[in-house]
Amino acid sequence: TTPLEQKDQTVFDLIQQEAERQRLGLELIASENFTSAAVREAVGSIATNKYAEGYPGKRWYGGCEVIDKIEQLAIDRACELFGAAWANVQPHSGSSANIAVYAALLEEGDTVMGMDLSHGGHLTHGSPVNFSGKRFNIVGYRVDEETERLDMEAVRALALEHRPKMIIAGASAYSRQIDFAAFRAIADEVGAYLFADIAHIAGLVAAGLHPNPVPHAHIVATTTHKTLRGPRSGLLLSNDPELGAKIDRAIFPGHQGGPLEHVIAGKAVAFGEALQPAFKDYAAQIIKNAQALAAAMEARGYRIVTGGTDNHMFLADLRPQGLNGTKATQALDANFITISKSTLPFDTEKILHGGGIRIGTPAVTTRGMKESDMDRVADLIDRALKGEDVKEEVHAFAGQFPMP
Ligand code: PLP
Repeated sequence: TTPLEQKDQTVFDLIQQEAERQRLGLELIASENFTSAAVREAVGSIATNKYAEGYPGKRWYGGCEVIDKIEQLAIDRACELFGAAWANVQPHSGSSANIAVYAALLEEGDTVMGMDLSHGGHLTHGSPVNFSGKRFNIVGYRVDEETERLDMEAVRALALEHRPKMIIAGASAYSRQIDFAAFRAIADEVGAYLFADIAHIAGLVAAGLHPNPVPHAHIVATTTHKTLRGPRSGLLLSNDPELGAKIDRAIFPGHQGGPLEHVIAGKAVAFGEALQPAFKDYAAQIIKNAQALAAAMEARGYRIVTGGTDNHMFLADLRPQGLNGTKATQALDANFITISKSTLPFDTEKILHGGGIRIGTPAVTTRGMKESDMDRVADLIDRALKGEDVKEEVHAFAGQFPMP
């Protein structure tokens, strides 16, 4: 028995239940993944005991000599992984990282251009219910109605019209490559900062399978727990150490107190894993699986937004099937297939429901699934959406693939 089992049977049992749910289900949420046991060991370590306000070598607390080495290692590995001159590994999450960027570069009320939430942007890119939309003047750019892809000429025209102080390039639900060089040219033309948020695609960028924004953007933020497969957390990168110093102050003392050094240790482990050649194979397999799954869904009559994917995810439009995101989530959840409902560009469904679903392959790829398994996954999704009970088949199929 473990110490947790001895001391708190209730929490122990709940964690066991969650482990079983993860093991026996098909995890297709585009922003989720399964961390390695090594990452989890670091996150569950005694590094959680230490206060370390400040940065390596400049702490407000004593006893930080070992913690300094852990945090410096995470910084150095992050810089190596993304080819950056500066990194801050202290953001508690992707949103915390983004808050620091706004705080360091802008004044309240400044104009910011970000991708419209209903077209694939994130809450922190200007949603009216988020700090970003409440405190800044947000101008949302959208995808083209015909191609459902970003049209950089349209982005440029909007920037020339509104003269934003910052442009955000990045998305939570966009299946095509983002042209960071083109975004930088537009930012330069209007005198704006370019902020790249690669939360979703960071693992693909690290593997060299998506263009890297670090050479182009003034500042780059990411989560560490999606395609990058680290612990739930955030990371900031830049090639401009002066700008980096401003961001450092916005994180601490600006918006956070003590860093979560146990999570930073987990990030160091995950960055070390992502530096290994095997991670490149993993990232390549994520994309192959996403493309195979999108094609298998299309073959079953589903409309895929933009017609396919260049990355780890895609959107399926379920309106032709008479479904919406909420109904689909209920049907799939009942069969242990987890996805997220999503609004579609130019959606006709209520925002609450969304006209479709977002499907991603980072997690099933970690379990070892290959392109040849995607037809089976599409079959199970399709039958569950048609109201069939495929729970037992899902359990049997998922159970064949080991959890890390
Ligand atoms: N930025 C983007 C593009 C995201 O997709 C997300 C998470 O979904 C975030 C930021 C926020 O990350 P977190 O949930 O860790 O706050």
